[in-house]
Amino acid sequence: MSDDKITYKIRITGLVQGVGFRPFIYRLAKEFELLGTVDNRNDGVIIYVSGAEKNIINFIELLPQKAPEASNIEDVKINKEVFFNFPDFRIVKSSNNAIKNEITEISPDIAVCQDCLTDMKSQAHRKGYSFINCTHCGPRFTIIRDLPYDRPMTTMESFSLCNICQKEYTDVNDRRFHAQPVACNNCGPHYTLHIDNTEVEVIDDILKLIAGKLESGGVIASKGIGGYNLICDALNIEATTKLRKSKHRDGKPLALMFKNEKVLLKYTEISKSELNFINSWRRPIVILKTDKFPNKMVTNGFNSIGALLPYMPFHYQLFERTKCEVLVYTSANLSGEPIIKDNDIALKLLGSEMPVLSYNRVIYNRVDDSVAFIANNTPRLIRRSRGYVPSPIRLHFSVDGILACGAELVNCFCIGRTSQAIISQHIGDLKNAETLEFYEESINRYKQLYKFEPKMIVCDLHPDYLSSRYADSQDLPIYKVQHHHAHMASVMAENNLSEKVIGIIMDGTGYGTDGKIWGGEYFIGNLVSFERFSHFAYIPIPGGDIAVKEPWRIALSYLYNAYGEDYKKLTIPFVKNMQTLKADLIVQLINKKLNCPESSAAGRLFDAVSALLELCSVSSFHAEAPMRLEDIIDEEERGIYNFDILDGKISFLNTIKDIVCDIDNNISKSKISTRFHNTIIEVSSEICQQIRKENHINKVVMSGGSFQNKYLSTHLENRLLDLGFEVYFHKQIPANDGGLALGQLAIGAFISQDKT
Ligand code: ZN
Ligand code: ZN
Ligand code: FE
Repeated sequence: MSDDKITYKIRITGLVQGVGFRPFIYRLAKEFELLGTVDNRNDGVIIYVSGAEKNIINFIELLPQKAPEASNIEDVKINKEVFFNFPDFRIVKSSNNAIKNEITEISPDIAVCQDCLTDMKSQAHRKGYSFINCTHCGPRFTIIRDLPYDRPMTTMESFSLCNICQKEYTDVNDRRFHAQPVACNNCGPHYTLHIDNTEVEVIDDILKLIAGKLESGGVIASKGIGGYNLICDALNIEATTKLRKSKHRDGKPLALMFKNEKVLLKYTEISKSELNFINSWRRPIVILKTDKFPNKMVTNGFNSIGALLPYMPFHYQLFERTKCEVLVYTSANLSGEPIIKDNDIALKLLGSEMPVLSYNRVIYNRVDDSVAFIANNTPRLIRRSRGYVPSPIRLHFSVDGILACGAELVNCFCIGRTSQAIISQHIGDLKNAETLEFYEESINRYKQLYKFEPKMIVCDLHPDYLSSRYADSQDLPIYKVQHHHAHMASVMAENNLSEKVIGIIMDGTGYGTDGKIWGGEYFIGNLVSFERFSHFAYIPIPGGDIAVKEPWRIALSYLYNAYGEDYKKLTIPFVKNMQTLKADLIVQLINKKLNCPESSAAGRLFDAVSALLELCSVSSFHAEAPMRLEDIIDEEERGIYNFDILDGKISFLNTIKDIVCDIDNNISKSKISTRFHNTIIEVSSEICQQIRKENHINKVVMSGGSFQNKYLSTHLENRLLDLGFEVYFHKQIPANDGGLALGQLAIGAFISQDKT
């Protein structure tokens, strides 16, 4: 290596925009006495450095190690160039010339950092400033309209920087250098509290009024990062009752925001990995065990809660002011509708009912809070939104130009750019008109943001899914994918698998290739095709969709299948408490095959067992019955029940008989639930071993909504690992239908490759 000066061009892709990357490069270049430029472009960050070669090499080596926490370097390309004598090191203005098709990542929203919380107390112009942020924290995706990520492309456009902020924004040694949402008390957004027909704008007064309202049992609508939330004192039964009423949400446990770690420890059983996760810059809602939360209006009988820690400066300010240590923190929306994001709509819908805290920065992209749990020490997502979206999933094959439309009930769509899959935030239930509108609007926004023009569209096989109808309405080549094949492909794609694997898919509802409802499936397949090796035996679902809301109907269907008319002689409470007339009617439906679609879904079997144990006869929210069944698990119990496998079809009629027997013998519901879960694990491991023996496949992937069940996913995974299988699970996307679009995208890519 000579001491002669040379020039290198370095191109970095990954999550490098909006996370303080350029100032970091500037400082690192200075450290190594390098001259040149750094430029933020659509296709990545481009760096030119001139200096001694050994310094340049050191600079490049240290880059990934020292990069900002929220950044994620995907690729570094280095090219030696003709020497150029730069006068200094400079950050040059963003240019919009995309090379090929590539687009740099957009940062998700980042929780306020510790330095900003300190500044909030010490900086004269930001004392008590609720919108404080810096290059390491603050809103990102929620405020971005277009790329590159520069202030005029965000909803901060309407706020012009004051002199002090301008100085910080242009001083490369400042933590706020090029922090696009930078603002202060003098120039930035501010809160307005709409209360009792007046508007209050002084933050101290606002905090005092809100603290008072919360302490006296009031409910408040408060504008968060990605939409409005409803908050109230979580320990006040009256307040939580009122909040549930205004949300029209009867049973689902409410998410809670805890003042700090200390309060969290007081109310929950939290492991080390859970604590790390809940504290991460993504600040998700994490499902935690608790048997000591006193307000049953919040938990509704569940032994677990969704918990999160403060993530906006305002949250910290509020907890400083109020005596409430735990707040209900739930999205403001009517059940099934998307989270409210606009001030006028919040005021119109909620203003007459409660005080509304708004602010004057526009939320451009709405996002809900993300929800996750930890199993086997790794995060498992249930809802992927704030803090995650729109970070791409990196694949090892091209998915360019493909739009995957997702499912219907828990919809997320997905677009393919080069080899990156960009999955949308949680959209919700498309059957709701407002949600469908949000879906179509979001697809258009992703097209604009990512300069994406779909060449192919992939959707579910279900003819009535509104996402499938959307796909049909586009004038594009279309490919329809079986629901559970898409589930299987989604977990394969994120684990970079394309060879033949065993797929265990346990799910609620999905349209099968035989026109029946599937969902307890053991597949052999790859990203092109699958074979249905084995599945749960079909069971009539009396009333179809109604039965999904009324699990007792499915329990009855199982009993009738197991015992025939003799089910009436059973002495278990479920049968004794049943209304005979209604039951007779259901049995007639089954016998006459009237409105009784057949289903092999695991979700329905869980429903049936939950109803048999009288944990949930009629559910008040999606998946309540299986959630209640899981909630009473006894981790120590090892027992299992009988089951039968006939011609690849798994019959649980003997399982049901064993359960009835256990109920008769006064075995605890906890033990019965666990024995049932263990049975599903036993069945699955037996089928996997059979497939391995016959087909020599050792890789197993698991997906589908039932794997939101922590006990099932943890214990099945461990069992298969013990048997020597290579087991793959979701890491970056949910196992439920929120992850479906990734699988559709991957299959679409392989099918189109196959054709060419
Ligand atoms: Zn900060
Ligand atoms: Zn300012
Ligand atoms: Fe599904």
